Amino acid sequence: MKRHLTIALVAHDKRKADMVEWVKFNAQTLSAHKLVCTGTTGGLVKQAFAELGIEANVQCMNSGPMGGDAEIAAMVVRKEVDLAIFLIDDLSAQPHEADIQMLLRQCRLHNVPIACNRISADLMISSPLWDDESYKPAAQTYTPFAREEQQ
Ligand code: PGA
Repeated sequence: MKRHLTIALVAHDKRKADMVEWVKFNAQTLSAHKLVCTGTTGGLVKQAFAELGIEANVQCMNSGPMGGDAEIAAMVVRKEVDLAIFLIDDLSAQPHEADIQMLLRQCRLHNVPIACNRISADLMISSPLWDDESYKPAAQTYTPFAREEQQ
């Protein structure tokens, strides 16, 4: 990929092993981009690159429960994130559920691609569309729909 992206990486505790594996699998590709992570995820991502001996630009925000997801959501609002990889623990309640929903909502609202499982992340990171100058992502529309007129 020629384009230089800012990629947000967030993984809940029970998904951190998955995130580390995913980062290692894609390390060469990811090393060409800027990575913005919640605190604990970022520490593990840095460690993964160090183990592979690959240089990477990894910025750590606060830990998730202390506002890291909210900080990344604010970056999404400011158009500072091109892609988000968010490995959510769907089997445990999280103390910062409100922040998680906020990050997901801001990504949807601001049309930022967000992958919540590894297959989506693999597909998104490898898409040729990133370098396709003729590809313009369609804007979100919120068009009123008259359900009763359909019957
Ligand atoms: P963490 O935060 O990387 O600091 O653990 C992730 C989260 O729980 O949102």
